Amino acid sequence: MIIAIDVGGTKISAALISSSGVANGNVANANILDLKIVKQRKIESVIHSDLINLSDYLVELCQGWLEQATHVSIACTGQIGVEYVNFLSAKQNLPLKAQLESAFKLPITIINDAAAAAWAEYSALNKLTAEAHEDSNTSHVNHKRDDSLVYITVSTGIGGGMIQNGQLVTCTDGFCAHLGHVSVQHGSQQSIQCHCGRVNCAEAIASGTAIAKQASVILNKTVSCKEVFEHYLAVPEIANLVDDASSAICDLIANIKAVTGTRIVVLGGSVGSVDIFQQQIQAKVAKLPTIFQVSIIPPQMGADADLLGAAFYAHQYSN
Ligand code: ADP
Ligand code: ZN
Repeated sequence: MIIAIDVGGTKISAALISSSGVANGNVANANILDLKIVKQRKIESVIHSDLINLSDYLVELCQGWLEQATHVSIACTGQIGVEYVNFLSAKQNLPLKAQLESAFKLPITIINDAAAAAWAEYSALNKLTAEAHEDSNTSHVNHKRDDSLVYITVSTGIGGGMIQNGQLVTCTDGFCAHLGHVSVQHGSQQSIQCHCGRVNCAEAIASGTAIAKQASVILNKTVSCKEVFEHYLAVPEIANLVDDASSAICDLIANIKAVTGTRIVVLGGSVGSVDIFQQQIQAKVAKLPTIFQVSIIPPQMGADADLLGAAFYAHQYSN
């Protein structure tokens, strides 16, 4: 059994996951779809209220499961360095791995939450593609599967995860695939400041927070991004704002294609999954010069992608 914990800005969820029947340490044969969530618990996130005691909350959340588990794998928001996790939105560091090793007395793996979701999506897609090929009985066709994929989540912020050559991209200081901080074009003449210190980042233009902030100025009242999409698209300035945001995501995708060569972008998150927004992005990407075009697909793995991706990653790479 593996314990997986998703540490997000809004909620923290933990699951006891059975990996029996999943091939060990064998990337080619293991199937993420064989992981089974046996138990699950959730609490409100403490990242902005009591971060310093995070490890105590995580142990408490997993009470009764520890005896059955061989590993704890964390999908965590922020910049996952070797020794420290930098909780960017809380502007605070924690030596989380060392804290959890001593609290859980089990091996600990920590990866970024969007990276975990990316790994889940890649693993599921690869497995489904392989099965489709086995069924199709067309062995003369070139069956080489895609070994790269980029996952973008457009939600409160914009996050990402990248797979290159079949491997999840990670780095020593943990600041890789933070796709929200890639700078992109936008409609306004003026630079838009991002909280990271640079200007014109995708997150500052097209995240749920950014859309809500700009719409609130236009409408002269506080609205959420959800309300913008549900009630205000008929207002021409709001329609322009959403159009600029979808152009910014299209520009981000073109930049990603030029850097990674990926042919597949999974676009998720509460904002990224809105039909009209997806359609705009699809239409704009289809008009890019051919070498920048990618297939944009919705996520397959649902709400538990972070948990399952983290568990599967630990299962494959910690043996
Ligand atoms: P998280 O970022 O933790 O995944 P949520 O999934 O609740 O949080 O999404 C947060 C952002 O997404 C908010 O800006 C919210 O207004 C926006 N959002 C949520 N649902 C929708 C929706 N159906 N349409 C457009 N925006 C949405
Ligand atoms: Zn930024």
